[in-house]
Amino acid sequence: MAVGNTYVVEKTCPICGETTRVVKVRSRLMALQTDSDFCTHYQDFNPYYYTIWICEKCGYAADEKRFLAVMPEKNRKKIQDFLNGRKIGLSFAEERGLPEAVASFKLAIFYEELLGASLGHRAGLFLELAWIYRLADDEEKELPMLRKAAELYDQSLTTERYPVGQLSDTMAIYLVGSIYYRLGDYETATQYLSRIISDKDSRIQDRKLYERARYLWQDVRAAREAQRDAAEVQAAGGTPDEAAEKAKQNS
Ligand SMILES: [Zn+2]
Repeated sequence: MAVGNTYVVEKTCPICGETTRVVKVRSRLMALQTDSDFCTHYQDFNPYYYTIWICEKCGYAADEKRFLAVMPEKNRKKIQDFLNGRKIGLSFAEERGLPEAVASFKLAIFYEELLGASLGHRAGLFLELAWIYRLADDEEKELPMLRKAAELYDQSLTTERYPVGQLSDTMAIYLVGSIYYRLGDYETATQYLSRIISDKDSRIQDRKLYERARYLWQDVRAAREAQRDAAEVQAAGGTPDEAAEKAKQNS
């Protein structure tokens, strides 16, 4: 890990009221690239490892905004009841690796589910966990997290009032489209992105996102065409390897 990207601060836990150390990421990081779903790649450092703060006293875990927000009494009680007599086996770590990062997200998602927190917010946690796997080159674990995020955003769009926190409905629709593109489901990706492109209001309200959706829609269309071409090649006899595979399946 690059030295000096993080620093430790003390915060008050919203559940137990004790002071706990948490790690913050310095904001001056140089991005290498940003994927269509906003996953940003950095040189030798992954800031997503530090998104979740964990109270070293009681084991509560949440992202910074949630951690610092006012916690309704009934929610505090719910988590206190759960933690009562339990020991969460995650100690404070100034430097996190992949296992600690994954564990922190799973814990935060668990608490969000316990509290019945908004689907849109939960979707965001699954999406970021998918990025953690992506940046660790573990596609097998990334894809189910992406799928979960898309499902939650989709449910959120039909049942929740927007904006959800900072998230606009146009952004949620874009993210679902972008996730399905990554999952290779070009048909569904097109459906979602078309909702943005065909909506005049989204063009006016969020020009940047509208442009992003348009570019991505073009990428999806190109990918669909490539897929169709490949299918046609195969239908016309395909490569020797494919033909052999087909023969094996049919025998
Ligand atoms: Zn605590």
